Order: sequence, then C-alpha cells, then structure tokens
Amino acid sequence: MIEIENVRKSFGPLEVLKGIDLTVEKGEVVTIIGGSGSGKSTLLTCINGLEPIDSGRIVIDGTDVHAKGTDLNRLRRKVGIVFQQWNAFPHLTVLENVMLAPRKVLGLTKDKAEQIAVKQLTHVGLGEKLKVYPARMSGGQQQRMAIARALAMSPEYMLFDEVTSALDPMLVGEVLDTLKMLAEEGMTMICVTHEMAFARDVSDRVAFFHQGVMAEIGAPDQIFGAPQHAETQKFLASVR
Ligand code: ADP
Ligand code: MG
Repeated sequence: MIEIENVRKSFGPLEVLKGIDLTVEKGEVVTIIGGSGSGKSTLLTCINGLEPIDSGRIVIDGTDVHAKGTDLNRLRRKVGIVFQQWNAFPHLTVLENVMLAPRKVLGLTKDKAEQIAVKQLTHVGLGEKLKVYPARMSGGQQQRMAIARALAMSPEYMLFDEVTSALDPMLVGEVLDTLKMLAEEGMTMICVTHEMAFARDVSDRVAFFHQGVMAEIGAPDQIFGAPQHAETQKFLASVR
C-alpha cells in the first residue's frame, strides 16, 4: 500500500504540493487528472523517491521513502515509473533494451534476463519485435516497450505519467489497452492522464489536482458525473 500523508514540496519559492493526502491500496487503480502545473508529475517523482519532499511522509509497504537510510534502488524496483517518453538505447534491439535493467540492476544472468524480457514484451504485444531497433517502431510500440521494460523488474506498483500524451491520436488506444490489461490483472497503479474516457473506465478512484492541492477524489462516476468542486467542474468542461 502507498500512504501519502500531508506531503509538501516546493521548488524555490513555488509551492507545488500543498499537503497531499492519499492512500492507494494494493490492487487499486487511481488516476490523477488536473491542469498543467498542478503538481501531478511532481507527486509521482516524490512517490518513487526521485524528488525529495519538504514535509509529510510517503510510506510504501511500511518503508518511508524519504527517510534516511531507505534503499532507494530497492524501492524503485518495487515501484516502476513510465514517463511520457523514454529514450531507448538506439544501438540496442528492443529485447536488449528491456534486458538491460534486469541484468544490471537485478544482476540476472543473460538467459534469465532474456526470458523475462521476452515474456514482458510478449505480454504488451511486442513479441514480434524483439530483434527490431527502437527507431523502427511507432510511438505506441515504443511506449509499450517502455512499459515492458518497467515490468521486467517485477514491480508491485506502477506509476504512469501521461504515457500517451506524446502520441499521435491513432496510437493512443493501443497503449491505453495495455494499461487497462495491467489494471485488470490487478496491478496497483497510479496513472496521471488526460484521457478522461480511460480514467472513467479503468479507475477505482479519480483524483483531481488543482494548484498543488488534491481538490477532489472519488469514484469515477462521482468525479465525472457529479463533481463537487467548482474547479473540477471547470476542468472537466474544458477537456470535454
Ligand atoms: P503537472 O505534472 O501537473 O503538469 P508538475 O508537477 O510537472 O505539474 O509541475 C508543477 C509545478 O512545478 C510547475 O509550475 C512546474 O513548472 C514546477 N516544476 C516542476 N519541476 C520543477 C523543477 N525541477 N524545478 C522547478 N520547478 C519545477
Ligand atoms: Mg506532468
């Protein structure tokens, strides 16, 4: 379980997270929506310890992410993150790219890493692309490769930060289908997304962020059907 308690974070004079509280249970899918600059990406990078926080706590399965002495490498194996864009190593095949972290970080043998990479690439529908170089793949395929790469570390939690935002509209669906598949398999996920139909369809809960505050959180039907907060209403009207 991921427990976020009163987390505050500033960049210089700019307070980007103003006391965020959120608990994500095992198996839950929480999507975060909200305008640009509302702190969504910052929260994800704080959750897996890429960014320090100023106050509050983030506890994952009992481990305080930002406590002194926390093994962040170990934590990041447990909590995978996929961004809008991942620059794969261009001189390595898709398979080699996905094998890299299991070999280097987990210290697996080549055979074992390959076995895992093939499994995860097949899982995201790229079983036919193992020997291809990243540049030869579509944006949607590249994002699915990035997801396979994260899954190859056997994470227990996945964070997705607008993984479809850089894609041509035609390619968005295949990536969202992959996320949906993971959700249905029971992966615990926090997804920042602009895809409202996806958020409505896949989430257990939807959180709306506004200017560093989680203004509203609730079931998709509530957030999309009967938003309580004026800013949520305004935001949803703007994206519809
Ligand atoms: P969102 O993902 O909701 O669009 P972000 O979390 O990326 O928002 O950013 C929140 C605010 O923090 C923005 O005003 C952004 O410019 C600022 N910000 C994000 N990262 C940094 C950084 N590394 N240094 C300074 N300001 C940052
Ligand atoms: Mg962002």
